Amino acid sequence: MSAVIPLQVDTGCSDAPVLRERGQREVFCGLTGIVWLHRKIQDAFFLVIGSRTCAHLLQSAAGVMIFAEPRFATAIIDERDLAGLADANDELDRVVQQLLSRRPDIRLLFLVGSCPSEVIKLDLARAAQRLSARTLPAVRVLNYSGSGIETTFTQGEDACLAALVPELPAQAVDAAPNLLVVGSLADVVEDQFKRLFTALGITKLQFFPPRHAAALPDVGPATRLLLAQPFLADTARLLEARGAQRLAAPFPLGAEGTRLWLQVAARSFGIADSVFEQVIAAPMQRARQALATHRARLTGKRVFFFPDSQLELPLARFLARELGMLLTEVGTPYLHRSHLAPDLALLPAGTTLSEGQDLERQLDRCRALQPDIVVCGLGLANPLEAEGLTTKWSIELVFSPIQGFEQAGDLAELFARPLLRRQKLTV
Ligand code: SF4
Repeated sequence: MSAVIPLQVDTGCSDAPVLRERGQREVFCGLTGIVWLHRKIQDAFFLVIGSRTCAHLLQSAAGVMIFAEPRFATAIIDERDLAGLADANDELDRVVQQLLSRRPDIRLLFLVGSCPSEVIKLDLARAAQRLSARTLPAVRVLNYSGSGIETTFTQGEDACLAALVPELPAQAVDAAPNLLVVGSLADVVEDQFKRLFTALGITKLQFFPPRHAAALPDVGPATRLLLAQPFLADTARLLEARGAQRLAAPFPLGAEGTRLWLQVAARSFGIADSVFEQVIAAPMQRARQALATHRARLTGKRVFFFPDSQLELPLARFLARELGMLLTEVGTPYLHRSHLAPDLALLPAGTTLSEGQDLERQLDRCRALQPDIVVCGLGLANPLEAEGLTTKWSIELVFSPIQGFEQAGDLAELFARPLLRRQKLTV
């Protein structure tokens, strides 16, 4: 078994200066992660302890299916709670008891903190312990914060998965190496990756988060950790503290990104390059063909990224290298240098990088540059469209299946479509 193999790439933006800004920000909060996490872990329930604002955010972001039993809800903190007139812990226990008696299918219950629960200093960690003592082994109760204070929306997934890490069983001492793919992926993408890893001969393979609460992966020094999402700093740190070895790879966006991501895993498991090339040949070819149809429309177009999803750097790398787009500014809420090192190395040298936000100043830079397309949060999209700029909602890139060979064309199309729409409107 070979050790971790570093990528052989140019230095790109590895040592590039980064404009660091701390000012007014325009982002969604971590509750947003519930929108995709509740679909991923199919027997989990997310109970937000929050306000009506939190409930509105979730309902509008996730949509409400009238005939389906939802797997998220908000326990509203009202004026009596805020005024300290009611015992919030008693109320919470009552709500959880009601919920679990109505929904025997729940195996994992997350108490999700919010700005209001933090304001009244409700100790959800203690509440989760107290409730777990009553509900285990049938239901495990955990907690994390989705509060909007000092976070961006993808950190909700990081906080959720970090809360799960201490629950992962320890690996046997003599365990054979296993591959742990970390970060929520759409089921269809996960299934495609599973087929590719299996064809490569990597069969001791698990995904985190799992689809069911009982399928928690075991973790230890034999675990090779491959991040599928770039916003999992705390989760990766906790897994590494449990002995897992992180594989450094670009994120699996586009044909090149997916190829390099798979290759790092294959090499760490000692898979011969010839086997690797054979396994990926057909899907890689399909991805290249799919990209070719969008390249003509996108090459030479100038793109500006506002910081929002933390996917910005890998996306920028994909757009620049595989579609020939020009990067005017790539903003990201947080720049995790070691997790993003392989993507940074692949970015065109001289790319303007920024971390954090000072909204008005960044808007001024964007207006001055007049990019062809702006990737930004929902709150900025409409005003920018009104100013004549073409926008792409960054949150759509988190909700859509975009990773892997088979999705490379769809990912390119997500950028081509707004440009085509603008073109039709202006003709
Ligand atoms: S957690 Fe905070 S930022 Fe998020 S919806 Fe609730 S009040 Fe708003």
